[in-house]
Amino acid sequence: MARIVMKFGGTSVADLDRIRRVADLVAAEAKAGNEVAVVVSAMSGETNRLVAFVDALDADRVDGANDKRGGAIEDEYDTIVSSGEQVTSGLLAIALRRRGIPARSWLGWQLSLKTDKAHSKARIASIDDSEIGQSLRGGSVAVAAGFQGITDDRRISTLGRGGSDTSAVALAVALKADRCDIYTDVDGIYTTDPRIVPEARRLNRIAFEEMLELASLGAKVLQVRSVELAMNNNLPVRVLTSFAEDGVDNPGTLVCHEDETMEERVVSGVAYSRDEAQITILRLADKPGMVAKVCKVMSDANIIVDMIVQSISKSDSSANLTFTVGKRDLEKAVKALELAQSDMGFEGIVSDSNVTKVSIVGIGMRSHTGVAQTMFEALAERNINVEVIATSEIKISVLINAEYTELAVRALHSAFELEVS
Ligand code: ASP
Ligand code: MG
Repeated sequence: MARIVMKFGGTSVADLDRIRRVADLVAAEAKAGNEVAVVVSAMSGETNRLVAFVDALDADRVDGANDKRGGAIEDEYDTIVSSGEQVTSGLLAIALRRRGIPARSWLGWQLSLKTDKAHSKARIASIDDSEIGQSLRGGSVAVAAGFQGITDDRRISTLGRGGSDTSAVALAVALKADRCDIYTDVDGIYTTDPRIVPEARRLNRIAFEEMLELASLGAKVLQVRSVELAMNNNLPVRVLTSFAEDGVDNPGTLVCHEDETMEERVVSGVAYSRDEAQITILRLADKPGMVAKVCKVMSDANIIVDMIVQSISKSDSSANLTFTVGKRDLEKAVKALELAQSDMGFEGIVSDSNVTKVSIVGIGMRSHTGVAQTMFEALAERNINVEVIATSEIKISVLINAEYTELAVRALHSAFELEVS
C-alpha cells in the first residue's frame, strides 16, 4: 500500500466524460489498496472565462479609480477565478462515489492551505495534514481543489496561473506521499515541442534543475514553482497522460534528482518562448550606475528584465544597452524609460517585439566542452542572426528574429542529436 497524490489538469477534466475517465483511473489506484489524494484543475477554458468576467468589469472603472488590477481588486479576482476548481472537485467526488469509492471534496480553506497575501500569485505557507490524513487513513479518497488557498485574514487566494501543479506538489509533501503523479494531455516531457519537431522524444527522466530551466524558458507542462517545491523537498514527480488507452504502457517522465545517465547527455531539451520583447537604449552614458538606473526604472514599474547585453563604444564613452522584457510589459517599459530619458540623458529607445528566445538546456553542459560552438555553428549554417545571448551553468539562450523560431529549434534539436536516444 502506498500513499499517492494524483493531479489532473484542465484538459483531463474538460467535460463529464473526461471526469468519468479520471474517476476510473483514481478508482483503480484506490481499489489497489492505496491511499489516494487527488488535486484537480478547473475544466479547460473555465479559468480564462472567469478572468474575462473580471477584466470586463475592471474596464468600467472611472478615471482616478485604482489602477488596472493594481492590487485593488485582486482579492475578489481570487474569489472568482478559484471557483472553477471547486466545481471539478465536487464532480469528481460524485463520480467516484458512483463507482463505489468513498470520496469527498476538499477546498483550500478546508485543508487550511495557508498562503501569503499576494493575491493572484500567492505562495503557500503551510498545509494542515491532520484532518485530510485521517480521512485518507479511513479509506476515503480526498479530492482537493487545486490553485486555491486561504490567507491569514481568511480571504481566498490563488497561486498564479497553472498553480494546481504547485497545490499537488505541496499536498504530496505535506502528506509525505510515496508518489506524486501529474496527469496532463501529453505523455511526458519532450526533448522539444513535437509540433515543431515531429522526431522529438519523450524523456524517461529529467533532472529537477533541467525541468526548472525548461519550465522557466517556455515549456508549459509544469508551473515553475511546483518544480522548485519538488526539488527543495526531493519529491520525484511523474508527468504522464490521462489520455492513454487502457493497457497501454504509460511511463511518463520522472522529474527527479540527477543521476549519471543524465550527465552523459550533453543537452536534454530545446525550449522556446515567443513571449519576449527587446528594448535597446541608445547611447547611454558609459559610467558606473547607469545600468542600475535602468534596472531601477524597470523594477519600479514592476517589470522583470531578463537578458541584458551592453555594447561599449570606447570613442565617446556611451554604450547601447539591450535587454528583454515580457511581451506584455513592452509598452509599459518603453513609457517608463521615456519618462526617465531626460534625467538619464540617453539618446533614444528602440524596441522590437518580433523576437523569440530559443534555449538549450542540459546538466551535461557542466562537464562537456564545445556546446556553445555547436549551438552557434548550427544557427550560423541556417543564417540565423543572434541578437542577445544569456547563459547559465546548464543553459544557453539566444534571442533571434521570431520568423526563424521553427528553423532554429529544428536546427538545434538535430545538432545535439536529440532525436536519437
Ligand atoms: N485553473 C488554473 C489555471 O488555469 C490553475 C491550473 O489549472 O493549474 O491557471
Ligand atoms: Mg497546467
